[in-house]
Amino acid sequence: MPLSKAPMITVEEALAVVERAKVAPRPESAPLPKALGRVLAKDLVSRIAMPPFDKSAMDGYACRAGDPSPSLRVVETIPAGGVPAKSVKRGECAKIMTGSMMPRGADRVVRRELAVEEGGVVRFTGADDSPNVCRRGEDVKPGDVVLKKGVLLRPQEIGILASMGAADVAVFERPAVGIIATGSEIVPPGRPLPPGRIYDSNSYSLAAQVGRCGAEVKLRRRAADTPAAIRRAVAAALGSCRLVLVSGGVSAGDFDYVPAVLRDLGVRLAFEQVAIQPGKPTVFGTSGGTLVFGVPGNPVSTFVIFEVFIKPALYRMMGYAWRPLIVTGTLARAILRRRTERAAYVPVRIEGDTVDRPDYHGSAHIHALGGANGLVYVPKGEEGFPEGSRVHVRLL
Ligand code: AMP
Ligand code: MG
Repeated sequence: MPLSKAPMITVEEALAVVERAKVAPRPESAPLPKALGRVLAKDLVSRIAMPPFDKSAMDGYACRAGDPSPSLRVVETIPAGGVPAKSVKRGECAKIMTGSMMPRGADRVVRRELAVEEGGVVRFTGADDSPNVCRRGEDVKPGDVVLKKGVLLRPQEIGILASMGAADVAVFERPAVGIIATGSEIVPPGRPLPPGRIYDSNSYSLAAQVGRCGAEVKLRRRAADTPAAIRRAVAAALGSCRLVLVSGGVSAGDFDYVPAVLRDLGVRLAFEQVAIQPGKPTVFGTSGGTLVFGVPGNPVSTFVIFEVFIKPALYRMMGYAWRPLIVTGTLARAILRRRTERAAYVPVRIEGDTVDRPDYHGSAHIHALGGANGLVYVPKGEEGFPEGSRVHVRLL
């Protein structure tokens, strides 16, 4: 394989290139219990008012504000789900439960704790500041947009959908993802490890990263370092997937055939080197509507490149404009480097305000990721940050 490759572009340029790739998420319907982690494909417009009727916010007695009567006659008890049969007049009240429909005539509820009931008559021992009534439509009116298209459905959004009576939800299709781990040295976990070989961790970490985004891994293969084996696996993935992730075989070694095979299969490569550490030989291209990433095989590179480049692309294919969550903290140990020609992402652990950096021996050192919950970005041209500095941490 040639040593000098396509020009090296910056992280920002590479992100922009990936962002320009056309993706066309398609809507489909999902039953509500299966909608967690999916992305809403249509604005959710409420057909109902919430609450649907004036309701009591407390267990107590519904009566008329300003009724001067020293005691009130209890005309009925209104359980949750019940419809009041009587209207409340001066000198009267209805015993009411939280969430029950307010009876006609009543416009406030006195809490049970402030009332003494005896023989069907109630006397209040104190006053409430609040009328304790939730008005029909005070949270949502019919026609209100309750959730916007493009929202990622988390447990709270699932609850909102259910509260609107939605049994089926318009969500975007999940792209089929293909994962190919290349390398004649890799062995699947569960087998003995012969001399010179290592376990395949990338296809597992990538599948887990994809799964966590809520997408579907449709094809998983391992391929030896031969053009024919890589070609077979990539061709199968291109035929059935909209996102293809290939690990290993993108560097400048004698057996790094991935970029050539991709080109050969008609993948239009948009970049083949990024000024990023780890992950410099990252390759990105498109084939029809399919996006293809080739990531270097060192496990930290594979992991970080997924986070930085693949995750936003995958989410975009799912109809979700994801942005990383960035917090700040104080660095407990310096992050400093001598070579600054690439931007770096350094795995860290943030707890409270303290940002700690695990021992990190480089991109093969997958154990540095254990417990890491963030990445600190060191821009190209900068040496890093001394101990005690405030740093931005991109959460994983
Ligand atoms: P490559 O990108 O193919 O040059 O591989 C770089 C390094 O990553 C080598 O030490 C490989 O053995 C290692 N590597 C490649 N693929 C995997 C994998 N699937 N799991 C773990 N390590 C890998
Ligand atoms: Mg390799």
